[in-house]
Amino acid sequence: MMSTTAESVVDKRLEEKVALITGGASGIGESTARLFLKHGAKVLIADVQDELGQSLCKELGTPDIISYIHCDVTCETDVQNAVDLAVFRYGKLDIMFNNAGIVGEDELRANASEGDNFRKVLDVNVVGGFFGAKHAARVMVPAQKGCILFTASVASLLCIGVPHAYTTSKHAVVGLAKSLSVELGEYGIRVNCISPHAVATPMLLNWFVTSDKRKVEEIILRNGVLKGTILEAEDIAQAALFLASDEAKYVSGVNLPVDGAYSINNQTWK
Ligand code: NAD
Repeated sequence: MMSTTAESVVDKRLEEKVALITGGASGIGESTARLFLKHGAKVLIADVQDELGQSLCKELGTPDIISYIHCDVTCETDVQNAVDLAVFRYGKLDIMFNNAGIVGEDELRANASEGDNFRKVLDVNVVGGFFGAKHAARVMVPAQKGCILFTASVASLLCIGVPHAYTTSKHAVVGLAKSLSVELGEYGIRVNCISPHAVATPMLLNWFVTSDKRKVEEIILRNGVLKGTILEAEDIAQAALFLASDEAKYVSGVNLPVDGAYSINNQTWK
C-alpha cells in the first residue's frame, strides 16, 4: 500500500505549464504572475503599462521563464500577437488568464459622455476577454486541453455602488465564461471566473481617489463580512492557481467568489 508522506506532496502545481496573463503588470495580475512562476509555470505578461511590466519581468526572472508583451486587450491583433508569442517562445499555451480590467467613471458624475465611458469599460472588460478566449481557443482546441480564466468581480453578482458599466461588464464576463465553458468542454478546455471582493490595488485606489492603501483597506475591512482579515491580491492569485491546476480538472463553468461571504450577505456599506 502506498503511503502519503510530506515529501510526496507536489509543491509545483503548474510545472510544465505556460500561462498568459492580461493586466499582469499590476495588482491581481502581478500577484498571479508571481505565484504561477513560483509553481513552475512559464509566464507571459500582457499589459499596456510597458515600463511596469518590463521591470516586473526583470525582477522575477529571465525571458526563458517570464516575459512581457505590450497588449491592449481591446485590439484583437495585440491579443492575437500575445497568444502567438506565448506559443512561439514557450511552445504552447495552457492557461489564459483574462484579467485586465478597468472600473471607468461613475456615469452620473462623469464629465465625459456616458456612452463613451460605457463602451470603453465593456470594450476592455468584456470584448478584451472575448478576444483572449477566442485566440486561446485557437491554440487550445488542437491541443484538446487548456484552461481559460476571467477575473469577474462581486459586481457580477451584486450591485455594489460601482459604475453601471462595470456591473454590466462583470455580469457579461460571467455569461461569456459560462457560454464558452459549454462550447469548449468538447475539446477538454475548462473555463471559469473568479469574483473577488475589494482588493486595495491601484485600480481600487484610483476609484477611491487616494494613494492611501491603508485607508482603503480600512474601508474594505469595515465593510467586509469576514472580520479580522484583509483580502489581498495574492488571495485571488491562489484561487487562480487552484482553477488553473490539474487539481481542478473537473471544475468548469464556475464563478468562484473570493469574497468572505460578501455576496451572500444583505447589508449595505457603512
Ligand atoms: P490594477 O489596476 O492593479 O490592474 C489592472 C491591470 O489591467 C493594469 O496593469 C492595467 O494596466 C491593465 N489594463 C487596463 N486596461 C488594459 C487594456 N486595455 N489592455 C491590457 N491591459 C489593461 O487592478 P486590479 O484590481 O488588479 O484589477 C484586475 C482585475 O480584477 C480587473 O478585471 C478588475 O475588474 C478585477 N477586480 C478587481 C477588484 C479590486 O477590488 N481590485 C475586485 C474585483 C475584481
